[in-house]
Amino acid sequence: MKYDVIVCPECKVNVQIINHGIKSTVCQRCGSRLNVHKLRVWHTTSDLDEAVSVRTSILMKLDP
Ligand SMILES: [Zn+2]
Repeated sequence: MKYDVIVCPECKVNVQIINHGIKSTVCQRCGSRLNVHKLRVWHTTSDLDEAVSVRTSILMKLDP
């Protein structure tokens, strides 16, 4: 299992960890349906702990 870290392009504040290879997901914050192929994937890893730490660092960058 691999994980992708994405940022919602609609609200631009929600960073989500999704399963690598899925086609779409829903933003847990604003409810937008997101086409994963059109999103920037910030990070891909098979290590969930690493995905969580990347998510945290992106969140800190988004909220200076
Ligand atoms: Zn959103």
